[in-house]
Amino acid sequence: MRPELLYPLFQPVESLKGVGARVAPLFHKLAGPKVVDMLWHLPTGVIDRRDRPTVAEAMPGKVATLVLTIDEHRPPPPASRAPYRVAASDETGTLTLVFFRAGRDYMLKMLPPGEQRAVSGRVEYFNDLPQMAHPDHIVPVSDLAQIQTVEPVYPMTQGLTPKTVHKVAGQALALALKVAETAPEWLDPTLLARRGWPGWGAALEAAHHPADEDAVSPLAPARQRLAYDELLATQLALFIVRAKMRDRPGRARTGAGEMRAAALAGLPFTLTGAQTRALEEIAADMAKPARMLRLLQGDVGSGKTVVAWLAMLIALESGAQAALMAPTEILARQHMETLAPLAEASGVRIALLTGRDKGKPREALLADLADGTVRVIVGTHALFQDDVTFRDLGLVVIDEQHRFGVDQRLGLSAKGPDADVLVMTATPIPRTLTLTHYGDMDISRLDEKPPGRQPIRTVVLSVQRLTEVIDAIKRAMAAGHKVYWVCPLVEESETADMAAAESRYEDLREVLGGRVGLVHGRMKAADKDAVMARFAGEGCDVLVATTVIEVGVNVPAATVMVIEHAERFGLSQLHQLRGRIGRGSEKSSCLLVYQGPLGEVARERLRVIRDTEDGFVIAEEDLRLRGAGEVLGTRQSGMPNFRLADLDAHTDLLETASADAKLILARDPDLEGERGRALRVLLYLFERDAAVRTVRSG
Ligand code: ADP
Ligand code: MG
Repeated sequence: MRPELLYPLFQPVESLKGVGARVAPLFHKLAGPKVVDMLWHLPTGVIDRRDRPTVAEAMPGKVATLVLTIDEHRPPPPASRAPYRVAASDETGTLTLVFFRAGRDYMLKMLPPGEQRAVSGRVEYFNDLPQMAHPDHIVPVSDLAQIQTVEPVYPMTQGLTPKTVHKVAGQALALALKVAETAPEWLDPTLLARRGWPGWGAALEAAHHPADEDAVSPLAPARQRLAYDELLATQLALFIVRAKMRDRPGRARTGAGEMRAAALAGLPFTLTGAQTRALEEIAADMAKPARMLRLLQGDVGSGKTVVAWLAMLIALESGAQAALMAPTEILARQHMETLAPLAEASGVRIALLTGRDKGKPREALLADLADGTVRVIVGTHALFQDDVTFRDLGLVVIDEQHRFGVDQRLGLSAKGPDADVLVMTATPIPRTLTLTHYGDMDISRLDEKPPGRQPIRTVVLSVQRLTEVIDAIKRAMAAGHKVYWVCPLVEESETADMAAAESRYEDLREVLGGRVGLVHGRMKAADKDAVMARFAGEGCDVLVATTVIEVGVNVPAATVMVIEHAERFGLSQLHQLRGRIGRGSEKSSCLLVYQGPLGEVARERLRVIRDTEDGFVIAEEDLRLRGAGEVLGTRQSGMPNFRLADLDAHTDLLETASADAKLILARDPDLEGERGRALRVLLYLFERDAAVRTVRSG
C-alpha cells in the first residue's frame, strides 16, 4: 500500500491545470503519466533574463529584458510572406519586434501603440538595426519582476510550449513541496552534512529553479541528492529482493556427478577453461545449504547453454527438477531444440511449456511436472502460471534475464521454495553497471570463446552501395548460405518498424525471388515460428527481420547479415545481432549499411563494431561514447532507466548507495525502525512497491 502522504504525486498528470485531453498524451510522452513524472522532469539549462539593458546597450545574440514604448505597427502587405513588424523604443534607440504569422488584432492588443511593455528574448542585429523575433515574454511593465529572472529550460517535446511545461512542472513541484513538509528524511543526516546536500524539498526546489547554469550540473548538491535518492531506492530494492531469495534456506545439492560425466563424454568438444571454471563455481554454490543466485555472463557464442545444461544435471543428480525460462517463445523453442538431444542422451524427460499449450495436453504435461516424471522444463512466462507446480524444483535457469523484471524473477523461484537460481545473460555489462542492475549478485564470466570460431568480416558501407549488398546476397544464396536482413527500429513505433520491414521484404522478394521470409514483433507466435523453421531448414534463404532475432537464435548456415540503418542501433545491440552469424564452419560477413551523413560519434561507433568482436571491449566503448545511462537504458534491453541519476557523473554515488543499502538492511532487514519506515516512503516514491511488499510479507 502506497503511503497516503504520496497520493498527490501519484495522481494522473491530467489532474494538473493546463493538462487537458489534447496535450495529455504529449505530457505522457515527455515525462510520463503521473504527477511524479513531471517532478522528475528537471531543467537541463537556464535562460538568464536578469540583464536589462537599454536598446543601445543590448548585445547581439544575448537574451535580454527591455522596457520599451510601442511606437508603430507595420503589418505586412496583404498576401505577402513578410513578417509583421512593430517598432518599439526607449530613449536610446529603436528596436524592431518581428513576428511571423501574426494576426493584426491580436498584435494590437498585445502591443498597444503608445504604451510601455516589458519584453524578453534574444536580441539580434539585422542590417545594423537591433531586433527581436518572437519575444519569449511580453508583459505590462508592472509585471517586469516576474520575467526578469533566471528561467529554467525544460526538455521539450513537439507540440508543447516551454510556458506550458514550466507551469505544469511548477504545479508538480508545489505538490511535492507540500509532501516534503511532512515526509520524514530518509537519508542519513551525517551523509547530508558531510556532502552538503539539502533536504528533499529544498533539493527539488533548487533543481526546478536553478539559480544559474552551475545549478543544472549533475554535480550540483541538489542534483546529487536527488540522484542519490534514486540510486539508494534502486539498490535497496535489489538487495531486498535478493535477500529474500537468499534468506530462504536453500538446500545443499551435490549429486554424484555420473550424469555430468556421461554428458561431458558425449559432447563433440571439450569445455573451455572459462566454462569449466563457471561450472565449478556453480557446483560449489549449489553444494552450499544457501540459495545460489548467480549470473552467468558470456558473450554470444561463448557457450552458456552447455554450462546451464551441466548445472541442470547437478540438480537432477541430486534428485530434483530443473527449469529454463526464456523471454520469448522463439528462444524457448530454440533452447528446447538444443537441449532435447542432450536430454535424450542422458535419458532425461524434458518438455516445453509456452502460452500456446492449452487443454488436455497441457494438463497432462502439468501432471507429469507435478509428479516429477518430467525432469526438465523449458518455457516462457507460461512457467509462472499458478497451476504450474513441481515435485521438487531444484534449479531455475533464466535466460537473457534483463528482459525480466525483478517481480518475475521472484515469481519463478517461488515455484521451488529453495531452488537455486542461475541467470544467463549475453549482455556484456561493464563492471560498473553490473552493480546497478544485479546488486552484488555473484558472477561467473565466460570470457573465452570456444576454439575454431570463424572471425566475422564486418564491412561498413553507405546505403548508396545497396546494389553491392544485393550482389553479395546473391553470391551467398548461390553457395547455399543463408542471410539475415535486419531492419531498424523506426522511432518508437512498432507499427512503423513493421512497415519498414514489410516494404523491404517486398523489395527483396522482387530482386531475389520467392525464397525470402519476414518476421517481426507483431506477428503471431505460430507464424513467427513457421518462418523461423523455414529459415533454419528449407524453403527460405533470406530472413527479413526486425530486432526480434536479436538474441539466441541459432541458424549455423546463416553467413551473411545485413543491418540496415546500422547507425540507429546501439553498439551492444549490433554486437548481439552480429552474433547470429559466424556459428558454422563457413566464413561469415556482416554488412553494416548506414544512411549518411554520419556524425563524429556515429562514425566512431561503427568503426568500433567493425574493428572488434570482443563484447566487453564493445560495451566499454559504448559506455565511453554514449554514457552509461544510455547503454542499458534502451527500450530493447528493458533495463531500468534512471530519471535523476546520471551514471557517468554519479558513479561514486552508486558505490556509496550500494554500501549504504547493504548497511541499512544489515541493521534493519525489515525496514521497521524509524529510518526504515522513512526508507519505505523512498521506495514507494521510486515505485519500488514490489520490494516493500517483499519486506512486508517477510
Ligand atoms: P551462447 O548461448 O553463449 O551464445 P551457445 O551455448 O549457444 O552460446 O554456444 C554456441 C555454440 O558453441 C553451440 O553450437 C555450442 O554447441 C558450441 N560450443 C559450446 N561450448 C563449446 C566448446 N567448449 N567448444 C566448442 N564448441 C562449443
Ligand atoms: Mg544462447
